[in-house]
Amino acid sequence: MSVTGHRQQEPLLMSRCDVTGAVTDSDFDTLLAQPNRVSSPIRRLRCELRAGHPGRHAAFVLAAAHGDRWWWMRWNTAGGEVADIPVCAVSDEDNDDCLLPQHHEGEHSFQLSAGDH
Ligand SMILES: [Zn+2]
Ligand SMILES: [Zn+2]
Repeated sequence: MSVTGHRQQEPLLMSRCDVTGAVTDSDFDTLLAQPNRVSSPIRRLRCELRAGHPGRHAAFVLAAAHGDRWWWMRWNTAGGEVADIPVCAVSDEDNDDCLLPQHHEGEHSFQLSAGDH
């Protein structure tokens, strides 16, 4: 039995946390030392997770190893650390990949509003 007048529901996008953070000098040196960097490390960050998420904030800082290794900073008021973590890479039905670190808190990036960064 088919339903006529099926209405495509716009997905409701969650807003991002957008708490800011900064990579420390020593962490920045760690990032600079990574071989085959694709870009320069990002020093000033905005959390990319869902607004109101539990746990630490997280933001992408660097792609290295020709783009095979992604580095993130995770932080809270007590401080932060950088680490290379595989990307979540869950996709939605439009093949938008989630660009957050694996095992991240909250919604996938394609479920979040784009923001302006
Ligand atoms: Zn956050
Ligand atoms: Zn995800």
